[in-house]
Amino acid sequence: MSPVIPLRLQPQDGGCSDAPVLRERGQREVFCGLTGIIWLHRKIQDAFFLVVGSRTCAHLIQSAAGVMIFAEPRFATAIIDERDLAGLADANEELDRVVTRLLERRPDIKMLFLVGSCPSEVIKLDLSRAASRLSQRFNPHVRVLNYSGSGIETTFTQGEDACLASLVPELPAAPASSATELMVVGTLADVVEDQFARVFDQLGIPVRFFPPRQANALPPIGAHTRYLLAQPFLADTARALEGRGAQRLPAPFPLGVEGTMAWLAAACDAFGVSRTRLEAVTAAARERAGTALARQRAQLENKRIFFFPDSQLEVPLARFLSREMGMQLVEVGTPYLHRQHLAEELAMLPAGTRLSEGQHVENQLDRCHAEQPDIVVCGLGLANPLEAQGLTTKWAIELVFTPIQGFDQAADLAELFSRPLTRRLKLAA
Ligand code: SF4
Repeated sequence: MSPVIPLRLQPQDGGCSDAPVLRERGQREVFCGLTGIIWLHRKIQDAFFLVVGSRTCAHLIQSAAGVMIFAEPRFATAIIDERDLAGLADANEELDRVVTRLLERRPDIKMLFLVGSCPSEVIKLDLSRAASRLSQRFNPHVRVLNYSGSGIETTFTQGEDACLASLVPELPAAPASSATELMVVGTLADVVEDQFARVFDQLGIPVRFFPPRQANALPPIGAHTRYLLAQPFLADTARALEGRGAQRLPAPFPLGVEGTMAWLAAACDAFGVSRTRLEAVTAAARERAGTALARQRAQLENKRIFFFPDSQLEVPLARFLSREMGMQLVEVGTPYLHRQHLAEELAMLPAGTRLSEGQHVENQLDRCHAEQPDIVVCGLGLANPLEAQGLTTKWAIELVFTPIQGFDQAADLAELFSRPLTRRLKLAA
């Protein structure tokens, strides 16, 4: 029998809304914002991401994306070499040459992002000026935009935030007379987006997704736009959307049955759709998910989990794992704690959960070793050493690459945590 999933969410013992947060500043172990290109280039299918960076930047995205040499990739790196760094060459002229060659060879590109990096920031290459110069030159066939994926003081999911924030000024203005429309903001795998589109359609809620799959399908925006964040790491994008009149619908994130239901309920409330209708539309999917989750819960219940700060998904994941899977939260570390966007999530965490923001990796490793959790969620750089020390780990980056949102993915999400535990048990046996 599948567990009963409550429709109306109740905060847990007051939750962690006002809980003290351990703020740490020190050495950090995270990827940079270039990593976002890996999922963004799959989403916007006629966009191209040109990193203006070093060989290190090129290696990072090529190895992370697993480039296939027979495919025409939709990202590349314009390498800043010693001549540029020494000021011997005009980097702007070289960049114009590279872009012109690229666009002549690839007429399928409709949107080009110039992506800044640590080296381009160090030599103070003004990519926004380059983008507007190149946009004028290639208008109307190609829009050229820019954002920074630099690893200086950022974490890897901020690459998507910076990219989407750069796109917001390009959104067409919705006519003042237009009807209220929902915008779902944040990259979702196509399969997840299609599922949500069907649910909103059955609920009678007009919806657009941002980013779109095609550069020329940018959703209109205006005072009648209500938006739901699909990802918790989009602070700058949210600010830019609100600057154009859109209003955020506060909600938890669509992870797990409970989170997905509450996320959809926020849209229903804003669009005057009854809870009865929401329950009816989602009943079959909730039933399926509940059955699949019960199997996962048997493996995860009472297991102790420790989150290192990495993807900014940590708080919603912790809420799902504690409330739906019965896991115990040892520490929930996140690079940035956006109290407003995470308000509904924090209210649902068990009271007394240890929250930390930022990172001092040595201190955090000490706490992790002292606690000896059953599973640790962390970046790739920490995972192997921790595994060698006998701890079981889950790579945080996998949670961003894998479709995990929505009812039909809830059990897959839980399995991402149960699989490493099962593997460890098998190895021990
Ligand atoms: S942007 Fe910075 S952190 Fe990222 S790969 Fe390039 S040099 Fe390294």
